[in-house]
Amino acid sequence: MTGPAERLDRFMARANAIYYASRDPFADFTTAPEISQMFGEVIGLWAAIAWQLLGCPAPVALLEAGPGRGTLMADALRAIRQAAPGFAAAMQVHLIETSPRLRAAQANRVPAAVWHEDLASVPEQPFILIANEFLDALPIRQFVRRGHGWTERFVAGGTWVEQPVDAAEVPSGRAAGEGDVVEVNEPARGFVAAVANRLCRQPGAALFVDYGPMRSAAGDSLQALANKQPVDPLAMAGVADLTAHVDFADLAAVARHAGAQVQGPQTQGAFLAKLGLFQRMERLARSRPEHATTLMTAAQRLTDPSAMGELFKVLAIRSPACPDLPGLGGSSAQQ
Ligand code: SAH
Repeated sequence: MTGPAERLDRFMARANAIYYASRDPFADFTTAPEISQMFGEVIGLWAAIAWQLLGCPAPVALLEAGPGRGTLMADALRAIRQAAPGFAAAMQVHLIETSPRLRAAQANRVPAAVWHEDLASVPEQPFILIANEFLDALPIRQFVRRGHGWTERFVAGGTWVEQPVDAAEVPSGRAAGEGDVVEVNEPARGFVAAVANRLCRQPGAALFVDYGPMRSAAGDSLQALANKQPVDPLAMAGVADLTAHVDFADLAAVARHAGAQVQGPQTQGAFLAKLGLFQRMERLARSRPEHATTLMTAAQRLTDPSAMGELFKVLAIRSPACPDLPGLGGSSAQQ
């Protein structure tokens, strides 16, 4: 099938909209909250501490972007109700989700939530935002270094085509040799900028957990998964999950530029360990010894450098007046 060439980000947006609306993504990939309840519980405790550091604002929004099955939020809420009933009483849960199918799954687990298509309709008030594996699903553009100039990658009839592009479109600051691919995630940049702008108007904090390198680097990171196996990203549009590495250094710069404070990126393994994942595991294992092995395996999978511990990173951004958030190094003026 041939047709007009479609820019990669438009192709990816269209493919993922069909994918998330029609498939069960969790047949194709497993995310941290689906590995163990401990992940959502630890994030819930992080949110409760953030709320206290913000001065216990009420009312407050607990906001999640791309909540999947609603597992993370349900686990977080259980931990919050136990550890910080004042936060639980002051909050309204808001979920940003475009897929009607996943909204229905989320409604089963978090019935009291309010749903949004994007951040714009979430009421302006103090907030704590969490997003796990949300940014990696947003559509990227790819540029290729050719001679003294650049091309941009398009998709036509299931194959790649390159079209010349003005160098001004290409993000600067990434060294690239002949044939190297440079990526930009414009919706992720836009989302982080909008969150950071809100953080300058309202007390709040945001936590992004996703996969990607510590520093910006050239390279083609587009990936497609179907039935937990890598497949050709162009061959199974709408049937495979399309994601790309999150450029945390780039997003940190966007947040800083908007006036927010930034902590991280740092590895998921270090973040979870600092927030007491292993103590939580031991406590759960003592009360349910028959689950001890499962809990141990899950904790290792979430934190081990050879599993998710190092590839996944955590980035926090917060209002200028908020003190340092837990689990990450202090805020830095630049990366
Ligand atoms: N956070 C969940 C799910 C990750 S999958 C987990 O960790 O298990 C990505 C999620 O983002 C899905 O819920 C998907 O429907 C949602 N999503 C993808 N693109 C989106 C967009 N443009 N706007 C809002 N949600 C989106």
